[in-house]
Amino acid sequence: MIVEPSNTQEQRLSGCAPQHQILFDPVQIGPVIAPNRFYQVPHASGMTEANPRVRAAFREVKAEGGWGVVSTGAVSIHPSSDDSPLPFARLWNDADIRSHALAVDAIHRHGSLAAVELWHGGAAAMNRTSRLPPLSPSGIPWAATHIGFMGQQRPRTMDHHDIKAVVDWQYQATKRAISAGFDIIYVYAGMGYLGHQFLLPEYNYRQDEYGGPLVNRVRFVREMLEATRAAAEGKAAVALRISLELLRGKPSPDYESEAHGVVSLLADIPDLWDVKMDSSPTDCGASRFRAEGAHEPIIDFVKTVTQKPVVGVGRFTSPDAMVSQVRRGVLDLIGGARASIADPFLPEKIRTGRSSDIRECIGCNICIASWHDGVPVRCTQNATAGEEWRKDWHPERFRTVTSPKHLLVVGSGPAGLEAALVAAKQGFEVTVAEADRDFGGRVLFESGLPGLAAWGRVRDYRLNALRQMGNVALYPDSALDSDQIQAFDADHVAIATGSRWTKHRYSSLELPSTVLEGARVYTPDDVKAGQVIQGRVLVYDFDNYYLAGVMAEYLAKQGCDVIYATPAGNASAWTFMTNEQPFVYQSLAAASVDIRTALELVDFDGQTAHLKGLFDQKPEQHSVDAVMMVGMRQPNDALYHALLNQYEGVDAGSRPSIRRIGDVLAPGAIVHAVYSGHEFARSLVSGEQDLYLRDEPIASAEPIAVFDALSGELEPR
Ligand code: ADP
Ligand code: SF4
Repeated sequence: MIVEPSNTQEQRLSGCAPQHQILFDPVQIGPVIAPNRFYQVPHASGMTEANPRVRAAFREVKAEGGWGVVSTGAVSIHPSSDDSPLPFARLWNDADIRSHALAVDAIHRHGSLAAVELWHGGAAAMNRTSRLPPLSPSGIPWAATHIGFMGQQRPRTMDHHDIKAVVDWQYQATKRAISAGFDIIYVYAGMGYLGHQFLLPEYNYRQDEYGGPLVNRVRFVREMLEATRAAAEGKAAVALRISLELLRGKPSPDYESEAHGVVSLLADIPDLWDVKMDSSPTDCGASRFRAEGAHEPIIDFVKTVTQKPVVGVGRFTSPDAMVSQVRRGVLDLIGGARASIADPFLPEKIRTGRSSDIRECIGCNICIASWHDGVPVRCTQNATAGEEWRKDWHPERFRTVTSPKHLLVVGSGPAGLEAALVAAKQGFEVTVAEADRDFGGRVLFESGLPGLAAWGRVRDYRLNALRQMGNVALYPDSALDSDQIQAFDADHVAIATGSRWTKHRYSSLELPSTVLEGARVYTPDDVKAGQVIQGRVLVYDFDNYYLAGVMAEYLAKQGCDVIYATPAGNASAWTFMTNEQPFVYQSLAAASVDIRTALELVDFDGQTAHLKGLFDQKPEQHSVDAVMMVGMRQPNDALYHALLNQYEGVDAGSRPSIRRIGDVLAPGAIVHAVYSGHEFARSLVSGEQDLYLRDEPIASAEPIAVFDALSGELEPR
């Protein structure tokens, strides 16, 4: 239900483009009102009860930036839902309430609603710390193909006592969530977790009233919703988060699909439907393989079946696309996870008519890799994500200098552009010199490769902002040497000259080894410089992230016959961390690229590439015209060292400060270069060398009684 906007609301929207004002309608969700349609859906942050202040500040900044609802990530309701070593939050007992209350209060300070995603993972929670056998409807394990997720313990089948126990844990956790002050309480029936497992016949073989026909399979979710509502006592709304991808593909005798059936059977029981895809790779699709709004074909029907408001995601960053979702009756609330990480102030920028200043998510999924790494979230576009409390970095506010100093930035890749922008916002006079004809460094090249167009936003956002500032001068076609830098007489010099790919081989010690010499041995830098490669090409990858796979696809699209080989067990092995790997395989297959794994490249004589099996030493030859090495990068640090020599013996007061930032310091992913540039620019003002503040739990967890069905000790309520 949409709440009538008030006069004050009209005043608040005076700067907003008329066509976007609909996004600022308040929305009634059960007993609470969301102040607008911007809904930060639950998403993993890598922040747990171990770092409550980091978590509160991370969520608070989104509320400050105008997200009308700000949610937690998954919050476990019981030790039988234990995701360790992946980070997860919990509401297992009263000792956990205070750390959540800290975040709730922070969200409330800005007039937003706080939502909690209560979670039981069932068979998909491996319980590595609690050591409880995972719970499941029918003892069917999650057959994960990635080592990080393999559990090596089959779940046990839940009996009626267990079902009652889980429903009671949800009830108890809801009570705690209400004490913490949450406004919206979730029941989770998605992403292969317990509620979803009851819905899916692949997991649910039960013969009792919880299995078989759809009306039985929804029973567990219905009971979870009813328990949540009973515990909430009208003080908070009840939301259902549900995955509909597989269900939408299942025919049903009574409904258009089983997804239609589930939504029809539960239609108005929750106060809010939060609808999504089935697994992280499809739900949080990388921009390389999924467009904005890609969920729509699966979730487009939900509003036709329920009267309750519907929220969904789709990596929405364009206000026009958001408005279209609302106007066409697909969604009532615009869900954002990554969009809210990349720009916590996205709603505020739309409200004040500054949509072109949005720091758009590039869909790289480094944020998801952070969770897989087990650490607080990192973002390529927003270096302040996760650093709000521990470094006191705000995404939009900067400490400014009173007497402006001059900063010369040499190189305009992600590191140089970020340093320039942050320094300019702090009041410095900034000059950027770029050797190339255009700005952007590696991003300028890489965003022209297959699937990486959205990555160009790293460059576009920063250049757009820099071009609007009066204290910034941008010079392309300006390769500087150390004499020119000295003559420039800046107060600070940032060397951001990036790195280059080398032709090192890979050794069986898992180290780069000797250089592969010879004609027609190339690296991506040669393609960047305009080299045309033809014929049959072997791409050899021990970088293991995206670029070798992308180059293979690029060369295949240029008409080359491509073999991709790697010492790793999988193509683009690290892209498992960013949810991209399944699609890497699909796109390489579509481009007819031959994938060869566990191979060491021994030699290339100009006609034949000689490889051998990494483990069995079995020789393998391929007749190829060229080899492309994508293995290691080296810093372009000659200029930096020349500059240090230039100033040798000159006392600190008579020379500029000189710092290397980004790839020239340590070649890495774009996220590292942006962070490096940001950290450098902030340090120009703060001068502090402290790494960060260390967070601590608010209250140590008390010993917790596990009301496990094995013990049969369920507290009646
Ligand atoms: P990072 O990822 O660290 O930002 P990039 O490789 O993306 O690094 O960008 C480095 C940029 O520095 C490139 O655009 C390159 O043309 C530029 N560059 C390198 N040497 C010089 C120089 N001497 N003067 C000006 N620009 C330079
Ligand atoms: Fe978007 Fe990448 Fe930032 Fe994640 S890390 S929010 S995908 S820009």
